[in-house]
Amino acid sequence: MFQEAIKNYLHTHNYPQINLKAILFDMDGVLFDSMKNHAVAWQEAMKQYGMRMTREEAYLHEGRTGSGTINIISQRERGYQASEKEVKEIYQTKSDLFNSLPKAEPMPGALEVLQKMKNSGLTPMVVTGSGQLSLLDKLNHYFPEIFKQELMVTAFDVKYGKPNPEPYLMALQKAGIHANEAIVIENAPLGVHAGVAAGIFTVALNTGPLPDKALLDEGANVLFPSMQAFNEKWDTLYQEFLNNNPL
Ligand code: MG
Repeated sequence: MFQEAIKNYLHTHNYPQINLKAILFDMDGVLFDSMKNHAVAWQEAMKQYGMRMTREEAYLHEGRTGSGTINIISQRERGYQASEKEVKEIYQTKSDLFNSLPKAEPMPGALEVLQKMKNSGLTPMVVTGSGQLSLLDKLNHYFPEIFKQELMVTAFDVKYGKPNPEPYLMALQKAGIHANEAIVIENAPLGVHAGVAAGIFTVALNTGPLPDKALLDEGANVLFPSMQAFNEKWDTLYQEFLNNNPL
């Protein structure tokens, strides 16, 4: 099954092989079981500004920068975009609400798979639309000595954010590698879209309430039902990448 997915990817992009060097991880819903909290915080923050946003919508917009999401909802609910000042206020309100909720736990299986990758000499990186200031501290706390700040892509680095390929292209640039030297790990349809649009082999983890189809329709190359399932199959998948490499 993996072999077929790899073949299809190589054929589509006209690459001779995947020469894996870096693994580009989305954060929310991939490394942390945080999407439920984000959905609640989004719904409540928008309500405080007189706008309606359902929890399901939070999953559909997942991956966008905060301002991207706020502007789409504002346009729909009020007929105009929020000012820069208001975007900051709303995003702050949402962040405060998020931080007031019980802390999201790391996704089961995440630390194990990260350690396996690191032990194989691969470089795990984080590519997130999140703009939390304490991001690196949080990552270092739960996944010690895995991630490097200079290799992170966050909301502060990008102009467009997902679903634009920009964040993933920026990650390739930061690592100094090509699209066929990385894979993307994503849980959100817009994140999968961004990874695929960047020309990178994209692994979808369906850790939320959306149907698998939402991720497959965006072009996910393979799909796992959870981070734990991905962790359990990682050695097999990695071996398939190596097998497809003629060098
Ligand atoms: Mg995500």
